[in-house]
Amino acid sequence: MPSETYGKFVSLTKDYAIAGQIGGLLGWDQETCMPEKGAADRSNQLAFIAGIEHERQTSAELGNLLDKLEQEADEDVVVATNVRETRREYDRAIRVPTDLVKEIARVTSLAQDAWRKARAESNFALFVPTLERLLDLKRQVADKIGWKTEPFDALMDEYEPGTKAADVQVVFDRLKTKLVPFVAAIKDAPRRPDLSILKRPCPIEQQKAFTRRVLEAMQFDFKAGRVDTSTHPFCSGATPNDVRLTSRYFEDYFPASLFGLMHEGGHGLYEQGLDAAHVGTPMGSSVSLGIHESQSRLWENQVGRSRAFWERFYGEFQAAFASMADVPLDDFYFAINNVKPSFIRVEADEVTYGLHIMLRFAIERPMIAGTLAVRDIPEKWNALSQELLGITPSNDAEGCLQDIHWAFGMYGYFPTYQLGNLYSAQFFAAAKRAMPGLEDQIRRGELAPLREWLRENIHRHGKRYRAPELAKLVTGSTLADEPYMEYLEAKYKPLYGI
Ligand code: ZN
Repeated sequence: MPSETYGKFVSLTKDYAIAGQIGGLLGWDQETCMPEKGAADRSNQLAFIAGIEHERQTSAELGNLLDKLEQEADEDVVVATNVRETRREYDRAIRVPTDLVKEIARVTSLAQDAWRKARAESNFALFVPTLERLLDLKRQVADKIGWKTEPFDALMDEYEPGTKAADVQVVFDRLKTKLVPFVAAIKDAPRRPDLSILKRPCPIEQQKAFTRRVLEAMQFDFKAGRVDTSTHPFCSGATPNDVRLTSRYFEDYFPASLFGLMHEGGHGLYEQGLDAAHVGTPMGSSVSLGIHESQSRLWENQVGRSRAFWERFYGEFQAAFASMADVPLDDFYFAINNVKPSFIRVEADEVTYGLHIMLRFAIERPMIAGTLAVRDIPEKWNALSQELLGITPSNDAEGCLQDIHWAFGMYGYFPTYQLGNLYSAQFFAAAKRAMPGLEDQIRRGELAPLREWLRENIHRHGKRYRAPELAKLVTGSTLADEPYMEYLEAKYKPLYGI
């Protein structure tokens, strides 16, 4: 029987979670329907709500309750999880002094301007001084939070609790030895898809109707979520009962909305699958960004770019888009699975994507540790690009200046994308073992059993397990590269005839 102290604790955590939910909805509104002139007022509203959230999250009262609950040492799994994870977030929040937080906010805003200018002129040198300053501040954050092996761990912990850089490195190193030659073999393959198929005109209204149909098949609950249009697609979940997806639509490039929404829909199913009874507490929250991304990539790639899926849905697709009527399924399937090393991460396919992340990881670790001088980043970037992708950027804009993340002060964030790819393959392989008929179900458009399996094994647990622990429990292994490589080889070897 949870104690009175625990009752108070839960009502406090739910309180600041509500502030976070309100902030999320204000942010969603800003990206989807806010009129232009609302921007200044909106930033005040967001700052106000963020202030309330921070104040409650770092209150002395919450600290006292945590101390008491840790003494009570309740073994109930819900209580233990909520106390453990709230402690982690509380310590992270209170250990960093307010002055340091303010200074980071100030320098981050300068860094974004410097990054924009540097990228426009394709001149990394213009970004160097502010990036150095920001790195110095983030190192101070890492020191305040505390770390054992390297400061990078303290920063990555914000996005991927419980995962250490050295462990990720081991898996990335193994993956590199297989993935680099695999991509090279595809590059030299005699067969290439006809990509003009992807640019055939598909009216936007029909794209909206078709993607809604796909999301319904995925069991996305439209009574507990909706889809709107924004410049950059995202999923923002207030609660499992209110999940907002967004997409963008191009009449002459349907993959943006189709695979974009299957991706965001995967995030959305995770949010809808969290236990509503635990909203506003760690037991009702997602594990990490890497696990979140595993859900989006699983639906986007393992399902959405599979032949089985299209055997069911291609007829409907052709019926919706007259311009596709004469395109055989095989040509379509090949085109949506085009693999080609390219400079820009956000345009990368599912095979080469990981290499972009491994490149950033190889720079971020020494950059944070201070063993790689900031001014040397372009040279290192280009050398890594050649080593991993077999191509060298011709300038900084298509190389080390392409992403804004470093200017936002986000370090240790990039790896979560590739952790998502790796975990998605591990989970999908485990689902296939558990459900031998899974592929046939997908071939018939029956996606509910897969959604149920993910809900049962991953979503409903909230933060009960950390990512490596959850992976081990569900798949028998912590982070691993084998299922990912097996998936890629089984799919792409026959496609490219290699
Ligand atoms: Zn995502």
